[in-house]
Amino acid sequence: KGKLYLCATPIGNLEDISRRVLRVLGEADLVAAEDTRQTMKLFSRFDIHTPLTSYHRHNIKTKGEHLLQQLLAGKSVALVSDAGMPGISDPGEELVALAVAAGVDVVPLPGPSAALTALVASGLPAGRFVFEGFLPARGKQRKLLLEELKGEKRTIILYESPHRIKSTLEDLLEALGDRRAAAARELTKKFEEIRRGTLSEILARCRETVPRGEFTLVVAGAESPAGEESAPADKTPEEQVLELEAA
Ligand code: SAM
Repeated sequence: KGKLYLCATPIGNLEDISRRVLRVLGEADLVAAEDTRQTMKLFSRFDIHTPLTSYHRHNIKTKGEHLLQQLLAGKSVALVSDAGMPGISDPGEELVALAVAAGVDVVPLPGPSAALTALVASGLPAGRFVFEGFLPARGKQRKLLLEELKGEKRTIILYESPHRIKSTLEDLLEALGDRRAAAARELTKKFEEIRRGTLSEILARCRETVPRGEFTLVVAGAESPAGEESAPADKTPEEQVLELEAA
């Protein structure tokens, strides 16, 4: 059997590609890409010539089966999305599930992901967090989810597109109150910007200047009211290691 390699690609800055990802993309029999044109740019920049095939949300079922057959026939397949980790708000998890069910080895090659990148730069507690991806665009589902998040004590990470950022900030403000938050835009790119403050402050700035680019929002959990300093982790990593060793 071949192996399925999950390859993280940059979320903006091409320098963030790992040597290991470059090697695996070069050595794989086939690269399955969310958007082959996007991946071609990466290939030409790094002089990679591996055959490319598309794997996106519209052909997940048929192409997934096809890729599984390739894997079972002994071919190695590398999966990439347009940016970041495949499988995180991007196609990937269905193919991984197919591979796992068929006993195919899955090899993750870690790298950039907007969620963790925004979280660590937010200044908000990062010890415990939840990732919600994109909120449902509208309607009852959106309301229900916002209602659910109200009691969420962990830091919340969300993805949002620029044309919905204002309405999402408004809805978060209304549902959760004026929590501390950070809006990270164009991470790793030339115009990277991380706006930190309360939801209402960030919203006011978005109203002043029309936001562009891709956003990741990080919102404090229910017990971190506006203005409160971020709580230090209960135990230092050293204390945790000592505890593990003692156990
Ligand atoms: N798989 C990707 C990952 O691991 O980060 C996420 C893919 S999802 C379809 C795209 C969303 O991720 C964007 O709408 C935005 O919310 C977020 N995102 C991607 N690149 C970003 C960047 N450079 N800065 C801020 N957010 C980004």
